[in-house]
This record gives sequence, C-alpha cells and structure tokens, in this order.
Amino acid sequence: PPAEHPAIVIDAHGLPYLDARRPVRQRVADLLGRMTLEEKVGQMTQAERGALAAPNDIATHLLGSLLSGGGSTPTPNTPVAWADMVDGYQVRARQTRLQIPLIYGVDAVHGHNNVVGATIFPHNIGLGAARDPGLVEQVGKITAREVKATGIPWNFSPCLCVSRDDRWGRVYESFGEDPALVTRMAAIVNGLQEHGVLATAKHYVGDGGTTYGSSTTADYTIDQGVTEVDRQTLEAVHLAPFAEAVRRGVGTVMPSFSSVDLGQGPTKMHAHRELITDVLKGRLGFQGFVISDWQAIDQIPGDYPSDVRTSVDAGLDMIMVPYAYQEFGRTLKAEVEAGRVPVARVDDAVRRILTQKFRLGLFERPYADRSRLADVGSPAHREVARTAVARSQVLLKNEGGLLPLRRDAKVYVAGSNADDVGNQSGGWTITWQGSSGPITPGTTILSAIRSRAAAVTHSPDASAPPAGHDVGVVVVGETPYAEGFGDVGRAGRTLGLAAADRAAIDRVCGAMKCVVLVVSGRPLELGDLSRVPALVASWLPGTEGAGVADPLFGAVPYTGRLPFTWFRTAAQVPINVGDAAYDPLFPYGWGLRTDPGRDRLKALRDRLARGDAASKAAAMTLTAALPERNWTTGGAVREPRVVLGAVSAAATLLDRSGTDTFAQGDTLVSVARDVAQATGRRPDLQAEADHELAAGHLSKAVALLARAAR
Ligand code: BGC
Repeated sequence: PPAEHPAIVIDAHGLPYLDARRPVRQRVADLLGRMTLEEKVGQMTQAERGALAAPNDIATHLLGSLLSGGGSTPTPNTPVAWADMVDGYQVRARQTRLQIPLIYGVDAVHGHNNVVGATIFPHNIGLGAARDPGLVEQVGKITAREVKATGIPWNFSPCLCVSRDDRWGRVYESFGEDPALVTRMAAIVNGLQEHGVLATAKHYVGDGGTTYGSSTTADYTIDQGVTEVDRQTLEAVHLAPFAEAVRRGVGTVMPSFSSVDLGQGPTKMHAHRELITDVLKGRLGFQGFVISDWQAIDQIPGDYPSDVRTSVDAGLDMIMVPYAYQEFGRTLKAEVEAGRVPVARVDDAVRRILTQKFRLGLFERPYADRSRLADVGSPAHREVARTAVARSQVLLKNEGGLLPLRRDAKVYVAGSNADDVGNQSGGWTITWQGSSGPITPGTTILSAIRSRAAAVTHSPDASAPPAGHDVGVVVVGETPYAEGFGDVGRAGRTLGLAAADRAAIDRVCGAMKCVVLVVSGRPLELGDLSRVPALVASWLPGTEGAGVADPLFGAVPYTGRLPFTWFRTAAQVPINVGDAAYDPLFPYGWGLRTDPGRDRLKALRDRLARGDAASKAAAMTLTAALPERNWTTGGAVREPRVVLGAVSAAATLLDRSGTDTFAQGDTLVSVARDVAQATGRRPDLQAEADHELAAGHLSKAVALLARAAR
C-alpha cells in the first residue's frame, strides 16, 4: 500500500475467499455467501470518480467500481498522480467489511491516453491499416503495461465496431469497414489481458451500422442511432468480431448506446435481453460481465425503476451510473426486495464481477506497482508505437516514384497538421474530445522530417517563398473530436478539407513536386488531386510522428492498406466494399508498396508454406527470424546477422529441394544484396555472387553476399 495510508493486512480474517491458493470458483462462492444485498448491489455499481460526494462514499455505498470516462471531470494527469489517486480510492474500498477491492476502469483506447507523457498509439483505424494481429497484440501489451503501472486493471477497449458510415464521429475507433479485418484485430484482447488488464469489447452490437436519416424514421442519428438490419447481416457484419473476442476470453462487454431494429421496431441494446443474455452469454458462451455504457440505461423508455429492472433483466451486470450512484443503489435494492428483480440474477451478476476481480489478482495486489511507473512513455514503448505508425501509413498515390524521399532533400513543409501532437492524436487524448497543440510529449511530423532532411522550411499556410526546394510535404486533415458526428454538419465541419489546407496544397503543389499527408480519423474529400503526385493516409498516428517519416524517407517500406473505402465525394457516403454501385477514389484494401523486396519475401513464405511439412516448418522459423520491420532502417541494417542467417538457411533449403526455386531464390538474393550493399565494402564479392546465381547456385550466391556484408 502507498506509504501515506495505514497498511492493511488483507488476510487477517483467514477466510476462505481471502486464500489465494483456493480455486477462483470456490473463493467467489464463499464470498458471495457472506454478502448482504447492499454489498451485492454495490458491486454492480460503477460511479464516476469526480461524482463522489465524499471520498468515503466508496465505503459508505460499498461501490464495486469507479471510472474516469470520457465525460468525467478532469483527472490528475501525470503517472504518479494517477497511481496516487487510484490507490487512494482502493484504500477506502479495502476498509469495508469484506475488503472487496475496487475495479477502476478507463478508456485507454490508443495507449494510456488520459495520462500526460504516456505512449500514444495510432487510433484503431491506423492499426486496421497495418493489418497485423501480432502488432495489435503488442500494442495491447504495452498499453496494458502503462495502464497497470498506474494501478488501473480495466480498460474500456477495444472498440470492435464495424463502421459503415464516414460521418460517424467514431470511425477512427473502428479497425475497418470489413468484419473479417475487425475480427482479426480482436487479437488486442489477448495483448491487454495477458498483461494484467481486463479488456472490454464494445459497443455490443451494431454500433457502427446505424442508419442516418433512414427511410423508416426520418431523423435517425448516426451516433447512438438505430441499426436497421436483418438478422443475418447483424450476425455476419457486426456480431462476428464479438464472437471472436469471446473466443479469446474477453473479460467484459459493453452494450451500445444504439438500438437494433430487426424488422419489428427499434430496441435499445441496453434493454436487449435476447442479444445480451441469449446470444452473448448463452450461445457465444461469454463468461465475463456486461458493463453498461455511460448513463445509458437512462435512455431506455420508462421511469428509473423500470430502466434498472429492464437493463438488469436484459443481462447487464454492472451499471456505469455514473453520477446518481446512491439512487441507483437504492432503486436496485428496492426492486430486488419487491421481488421484481430476481435475487438469482443479482447473484449471477456479482459472481461474474467477483470472478474477474479474483482472476486479476486484485485481492492480493490491489495497488499500483510503483516500480513500473517508469514504463509509462518509456523509449522502448515509444519505439513500438513508432513501428505501429510506420506500418499504418497507406500510400495512396506515388506518381513517378516520388516516394521515398531522398535524405539529402531540401523540403518545404506546410499544412495545418505538420506540427501538432494534439491533432496527430485526435480525440480521446488527455481529454475526451482531445485538443490541438502540444498536449503531451511526442514528436510531430515536422520535427521528424527535420531530423531526416538536409534542409527544411516550415510555413503552415505556405506563404513563405517556395524557391530552391526539392519537394513539398503538405500535412492536412482534421482537428480532434470524439463521438457524435465528429461535428459533421455542425460547427462548420464537413468531410472536406479546410479552406486553408486546400490553399496550402494548391500553393505548394503548384510550385514544386509535392506529397500530401492526410492526418485524419476517416477518409476525407480531398478535391482536385491532379497536381498531387504522391498521397499518403497517415490517420491519427499519436505521439510518434517519427513513424510517419520512416516510410516517407524510405527507412521502412509503405505496407499499409486501406481499412476503409476512400470516397470521391462526400455525397457517396455511406460507401462500403460490396455495395452495388461502388465507384470510390481508392477501394477498400488499396495501398501501394515502396519495397518490392519485402513483397518477394512474403511470396517466398507463402510458397514454402504450401510445400511439405518440413519446408513449412523451415519457412515459419525463417519468417519469425526475419525482423518484421524490414531489414534496413535509413540505410543501416537492423540485426544483419539474424537476417543473413535466415536467408542462408532458406537458400540451403531451396537448393536441396531442387525444384522451381527461381522466384524464391530471387527474393533471398535481393534481401542478402540489400544487406550487403548497406553494410559491406566488397563489390567484388557481390559481382561473384551474381555469377553464382546465374549458374543456379543459390546458396553459394547467398553465402558470398553474406561474406560481402561483413
Ligand atoms: C462511450 C464509451 C466509453 C464510456 C466511458 C461513453 O460515452 O460511448 O465508449 O467507454 O463513455 O468513458
């Protein structure tokens, strides 16, 4: 426990549920058997931490959970202040009769984004573009480490929404418009949960599929609106990622604010017994607990007692109240006492909640591990974020091979988003809505370009004279927002570019070769691109702007692919792959590459994988050994011995197999040649390797290149 609080001897009672050696099921049963109705109702209550009338209300009202949510009152924002705050609340919870620890929850939706100095990852849209389950798992792991370091065991993430309409203010929280992609990205659940933080699959179900201004009800809104679908579409498009999250053992699920209309009129998801109890808990076998969204039960038609009854009966286990926690507790207790909410339902809810608390080890380790605080925003964590950013970049257009840029280039940088960590990070960063400016430490895209290019002129509005530059980089896009429409149709925001950004593009691209980087939470209408030879979707990269510059200057290849269809004009929205009339500017999945070598390596892996068991195993070992991040960074070779070792092994394997090895050999040689050229000073050996290759002696050629590399 923190020094300022009296030490609490947590196993003083010697009660069975406090005995960590017993199985969780036994501990839960023992504890549940000791609980009063008030204590049970308290476990089902989640209050907003700023709404506590007095800090000791945690103990007085036996609260099971607190949160710092988007709509919460501002919280302290350094790592230590967070740990102190959460531990302080925990101490109070541990002073109750049964000493049941609190479970504190936050929205760490792209890193520990409430905390100044934390590592901020790209929003999900960027991770969807990178399309790598291993990478998102890594992102989950590091997010968990930072969240856990501040004493928080629960994250309201991932959003597994399949977003189908770019006007929605949560498009960037979505991994993509295709359910198969979103389903693969559910791997983040394991990254979080295997590193001590409970994940939340949200918002169940159909949050991304609401119909805007629908035919049946003229004014359906897009956020918290109505998803009008047939059952088959609901299951195939929106339910599939949740089924995967359940399969991966996700600990909690949050229903959506939205309603579902399967043909019989809309039902609020928070009241949807069939989808929550029968489908999620029944058919999918979800064992965790269901947490409501922010004050969402209040939206169920009827008075408050009926909201409480309906939602608990539908299968909600814990209610994010968040303010009227006393009223909620009183109401639920009265409903149970009057026999209108079955005790068995309450017991089931509490059993589910306690099971997660025991599993997390909260009874044994309720406080922040202060030795881990230095992990928050550490260089090692930022390095992973930078890799994620680099891999999220989607090269949409590259006429004349303008990209990658040369490191000796003189670069003219313009546009509203070139030098702004706040804009790079978007909503859900430090505050709910996010904000422009240096809101947390990080590198901007401009600073990353400065550290690479020979000379840089920065002129946000492109008013500085363009003379003598080799290339212009115009960084345009959106300013932060969260939820709602992202203000489309209000406050002057549209799906188009701001006039100043458009003018910057016209000025710069009229004067020199240029690349436009779009920093945004969704596809935007860009207007005339005829004078824009190179175009990159950078999404909302977060604090590591260096990752945007990595592929821009060829340190790593562009490999991202569009997770969303890029429309031509906003009038085409909603537009999704598979639509009958599909005429986008760039289709779903589009993305150019700047490194054919990497593609060839993948081809090798695929071909070997199709072979017999032995070559399959060898291929797996090989690709695991080759650094995911490509073998060179800015001309320097990363781990040359690993790369060459793997390449030589593959070459030997291919030589032995003796059949149709030309394409694979080509790949290996190109990797080895890259390494040799970057590190070696032996053009003679490289020439000799060419001769061996021409004679069909693959492994000899690779061996020579390996020597050349030393
Ligand atoms: C959002 C949820 C979030 C919750 C707590 C709600 O407004 O819809 O995604 O987890 O607030 O911040």
